[in-house]
Amino acid sequence: MNGLYIHIPFCVSKCFYCNFVSFKTSSKMQAKYVKELCLEIKNKKNLIKPKTLYIGGGTPSFLSVKLLTELFEAIEKNFGPIKKFKESTIEANVESLTPAKIKLFKKYGLNRLSLGLQSPNNKYLKIIGRAHTFERFLKVYTLAKRYFDNINIDLIANLPTQTLSDFLSGVKKVISLKPKHISLYALEIEEGCTLYKKGFSTDDDLCLKMLKQAATLLEKAGFKQYEISNFAQKGAQSLHNINYWQSGSYLGLGVAASSYLKGVRSTNTADLKTYLTQKNKTAFSEKLTGKAKEGERIILALRKLEGFKPTKKMLQLFKKDFTILQKENLLISKKDKLALSEQGKYLANQVFRHFVEPF
Ligand code: SF4
Repeated sequence: MNGLYIHIPFCVSKCFYCNFVSFKTSSKMQAKYVKELCLEIKNKKNLIKPKTLYIGGGTPSFLSVKLLTELFEAIEKNFGPIKKFKESTIEANVESLTPAKIKLFKKYGLNRLSLGLQSPNNKYLKIIGRAHTFERFLKVYTLAKRYFDNINIDLIANLPTQTLSDFLSGVKKVISLKPKHISLYALEIEEGCTLYKKGFSTDDDLCLKMLKQAATLLEKAGFKQYEISNFAQKGAQSLHNINYWQSGSYLGLGVAASSYLKGVRSTNTADLKTYLTQKNKTAFSEKLTGKAKEGERIILALRKLEGFKPTKKMLQLFKKDFTILQKENLLISKKDKLALSEQGKYLANQVFRHFVEPF
């Protein structure tokens, strides 16, 4: 199922753990960006016939109603009515999500809203530099629920100074809000971000406990863990993301957006000025072949917890690795499928290393 991804790289402020391509800019710069983005949409419309749409960031809800309208109009003009996409998601953060924007999303037929909460505890929101409070989240979420049935909430585990019980009570609080989907990530503190500069580091053992116990709570509440970081109520799995994990085609538009078309993987420039001024926006492009291609397909496919049916070629190229991983109890075979084991789910990076170059 082909997907269309659109990147909006602007945020109200920079969160202290953020390593995404996001900028704090003027509304004039945002208007210039949307204009260029609409041009890119027009120029590349024939590359794909998408069934899913995902507008991510950054913070798409940070754009004004006027700029959002321009963007939606450009999508509709070039790819057809948004209502006709099988799934259409927009990411939003509550500090910039107003009633007018929620109504606008609904008017254009977007059918899935993804909200960045990260923690329902203001103490941790402050530590990680988020621009919202839980009270603001609740207010906006309550309104959004009147318009959207399918809402995802993003959560992060292992925040600085966070205890296991604090984290789990946060998970329970989010479950009580009854979203259809929850994405749960472990905090990563990469070199260069504010938390790194402040000297914070992560506690891997504590993180593991948090993720395991959160998974149990979520499963009990009816959320099925269908991917390493994603939990969904029945029928609410993200079709757009499933397409990535199945190595389906997608077109990414906007600064730093990636595409995968006809076996070629490419990424747009992450530099805003270059994006705004150059016609050719591609910074990187490669056609994966042989072992590298199969290895990447395996990594993506393993992210889905139901596993995947390896092709003859995969079995031939990675026979030894599959055997080692099964002996280490990181992979299991389920009928004709291979999948991460319970243990492998939490040590996925160790598993994935087998399938990336150098082999
Ligand atoms: S809202 Fe997301 S993209 Fe924006 S600064 Fe925070 S973490 Fe980064």
